Amino acid sequence: MTAYDYDVVYIGSGHGTFDGAIPLAAKGKHVAVIEADTVGGTCPNWGCNAKILLDQAVALQHTLRASDGIVSGDGRIDWAKNHDHKQAAIDGIPNMLKGNMESVGIKMYFGSGRLTDAHTVQVGDETLTAENIVISTGLRPRKLDVTGSELTHDSKEFMALTEMPKNLVVIGGGYIGVEFATMANAADANVTLVLHGDKALRGFHQPYVEQVLSDLEDRGVKIMRNQTVASLTENGSQIDVALTDGTITTDWVLDATGRQANVENLGLDELGIAYSDKGIKVNEYLQTAVPSVYASGDVIDKTQPKLTPTAQFESTYLMHRFAGESDAAIDYPAIATNVFTTPRIAQAGVTVAEAKAAPEQYTVQENDQNGNWYRAVDYEQDAKLTLIFNQQHQLVGATEISERAEDSINALLPAIEFGYTPEQLERLVYIFPSIGFDVYGQL
Ligand SMILES: Cc1cc2nc3c(=O)[nH]c(=O)nc-3n(C[C@H](O)[C@H](O)[C@H](O)COP(=O)(O)OP(=O)(O)OC[C@H]3O[C@@H](n4cnc5c(N)ncnc54)[C@H](O)[C@@H]3O)c2cc1C
Repeated sequence: MTAYDYDVVYIGSGHGTFDGAIPLAAKGKHVAVIEADTVGGTCPNWGCNAKILLDQAVALQHTLRASDGIVSGDGRIDWAKNHDHKQAAIDGIPNMLKGNMESVGIKMYFGSGRLTDAHTVQVGDETLTAENIVISTGLRPRKLDVTGSELTHDSKEFMALTEMPKNLVVIGGGYIGVEFATMANAADANVTLVLHGDKALRGFHQPYVEQVLSDLEDRGVKIMRNQTVASLTENGSQIDVALTDGTITTDWVLDATGRQANVENLGLDELGIAYSDKGIKVNEYLQTAVPSVYASGDVIDKTQPKLTPTAQFESTYLMHRFAGESDAAIDYPAIATNVFTTPRIAQAGVTVAEAKAAPEQYTVQENDQNGNWYRAVDYEQDAKLTLIFNQQHQLVGATEISERAEDSINALLPAIEFGYTPEQLERLVYIFPSIGFDVYGQL
């Protein structure tokens, strides 16, 4: 035991914390976790888990309609039931996580944590000292800085809707904007998707993004590009959204223009810890400017995707460091990402844009999957897979658009991360028929 109350105190209880804190405490370290809101943070309560539960009805509807009468029914979504199903599935998660933490001896504190020196955190009337402190406070939705922005709603409020508004404007072409526009459209809302520039989902392969947008347009979503929101004004029970190309009157506005880091009121300035609205600056050990204070998860200012598996990777990295098992710098692997639209777009490793910019290093192989018999199983209409190889013909990157893109890219991820040779690939005996078998056949 050190001279401090705890070996590690974590501020925030999301994936940036608990994936590492639980095994760390199980190894005998004294750990405390401070949470200001709901245990588990964004992902289980109003991020990934909540969203994928709502999305399943959307994906089912899409498959049913693509089956072109093989499966009968109109696939109409009862949004109230969809919401209740989601809520019932996630309601127990905070208590379960609290129980998981407490069962290994983690002491939980409820309130806002604030650093008062390099080894001390204040939470309410309690003063906690620790050898190391981890700031894992995540992100929150950004609000448009225009007149009337208080009339907009965020993704958390969208997922709390028990009735889908008739008319809905979604502002923002990031993954939250495009995914939520897809869900609202499937639930019969008249959706306008407003893009600030001429592109959406900028980090993804643009021909695939355009395919997703054009499919959304075919299903009735109006997409407005190169728009700046000037103001929002109440118009009776509706809202006027003034844009570059005119005013739209709507029932509900989702502001999906981005997320900013929770860096306020943590005592960072007083301790000389550098940050911006993108997050806290850390070195290759995830240490801030104060060596005993670390950051983990979305609150880090980083180039890696701000996603749950990245936060898990970081909290696991810190667990090994605090347990004395490794003093190596963090070495991020290929991180797979997915846009949960219909169809989906997933990618991992070297992107097509990066590969095309360095033709001496990479070969790009484009595969039209529509002609592939197995894709007919999912009634695919838009399936394409692009593979990127290095000069030794090892797979270094892949992106797919299809109904099952996340499964394809997950299946390819070990080959990308570990650089399998043709001999190693031959030893992978996949289930047939399956997506894993299918995509490995393309290597
Ligand atoms: C709509 C939406 C959909 C998403 N979908 C996906 C997806 O499909 N796949 C995916 O991988 N990722 C997804 N994400 C991202 C994912 O949710 C985050 O990457 C993940 O939750 C990050 O975990 P974290 O622990 O860093 O932060 P968070 O989960 O945000 O946790 C931070 C916690 O810190 C607490 N906190 C803040 N300040 C203080 C303080 N001063 N004191 C005490 N506690 C404090 C907060 O209350 C919060 O509970 C989605 C996010 C959103 C918003």
